[in-house]
Amino acid sequence: MDEREVEALRKVVASGWVTQGPEVAAFEREFAEYVGAPFACAVSSCTAALHLALLAVGIRGGDEVITVSHSFIATANSIRHAGGVPVFVDIDPETYNLNPALLEGAITERTRAILCVHQIGMPCNLAAILTVARRHGLPVIEDAACAVGSEIRREARWERIGKPHGDIACFSFHPRKLLTTGDGGMLTTASREYDAQFRLWRQHGMSIPPSVRHDARNVVFESYECVGYNYRMTDLQAAVGRMQLTRLPEILERRRNLAARYAELLKDLPRVRPPREPEWARSNWQSYCVRLPPDADQRRIMQALLDQGVATRRGVMCAHREPAYRTGGWRAGSTLVESERAQDQCILLPLYHQMSAEEQNYVVAALKRCLSL
Ligand SMILES: *Cc1c(COP(=O)(O)O)cnc(C)c1O
Repeated sequence: MDEREVEALRKVVASGWVTQGPEVAAFEREFAEYVGAPFACAVSSCTAALHLALLAVGIRGGDEVITVSHSFIATANSIRHAGGVPVFVDIDPETYNLNPALLEGAITERTRAILCVHQIGMPCNLAAILTVARRHGLPVIEDAACAVGSEIRREARWERIGKPHGDIACFSFHPRKLLTTGDGGMLTTASREYDAQFRLWRQHGMSIPPSVRHDARNVVFESYECVGYNYRMTDLQAAVGRMQLTRLPEILERRRNLAARYAELLKDLPRVRPPREPEWARSNWQSYCVRLPPDADQRRIMQALLDQGVATRRGVMCAHREPAYRTGGWRAGSTLVESERAQDQCILLPLYHQMSAEEQNYVVAALKRCLSL
């Protein structure tokens, strides 16, 4: 962010309309157009978006939702918020995404939905997931928290994640992601009914939004149609989001170049496995996940890198290994060995669009030194 976001914020403050107003409406229109979705509804976070998506497809107490444990904990938590039971299936060790071959075996008579994740920006195998889902009449929600700008190929066309290809896609605008509003989220869908439901829920179930009352020539009283939530996005956030959206193409191009360059440099380290895009997928490279050799000590290597000034992160977490999930509330739909292995063997290398070629060379040289210690 720079002066352009500051200027966008200044205008909103000066306008006096600071939440759920014209900036939010404009951000929704522009985001919908960018991902190619008929409807987009802005909310306070991706966790809020996932919660509403699960409620919209009808998840209630005890319903099973198939997902991955190998994800940020909000994925599993959102199912719990809706009263559902997460059923974890393992990942494909190449893409770190849900392994569609395990899906069918996890389905029971209590299964009500599939929540798939485009982990760290790498699209999951939607074609295979949707085939199984359609066969069993299950709705598909996409956790696209990390996937703004990622694409998949359908027939001969490249389409952005969020179209959506499932029934609903949920995005995050936390600073960890490519496009940030500080905090924030978005739901995209092709269903007018879902979209109307999200709008009601995000604002306490209020029948007439303030924007409509504000413009009314006659006195109108709102009513409260259901027990809703406060999941609003502010106009301050939306103004920043609109500015960030205009920067996105440049950020994506830069990250794709850096990722391609990492792949070249890492050819020099044959024991380290770089990430690979399936031929039908284009990542936004939100994170660059490499797999260390099986005999390498992840923590020691991360520390040795840090000692050389290189900050890394461990592989994506597994929810089922956290204290919050130790006492149950979930079910294993398959073994989770690949999920655990990915968490323990992978590290995320630094990747940011301002990164220089020299910095990238330095990271790879430092990793090489660490591995030969
Ligand atoms: C960041 C993230 C979330 C949560 O997003 P918030 O906007 O922080 O609620 C959910 N799922 C995944 C995969 C994420 O990476």
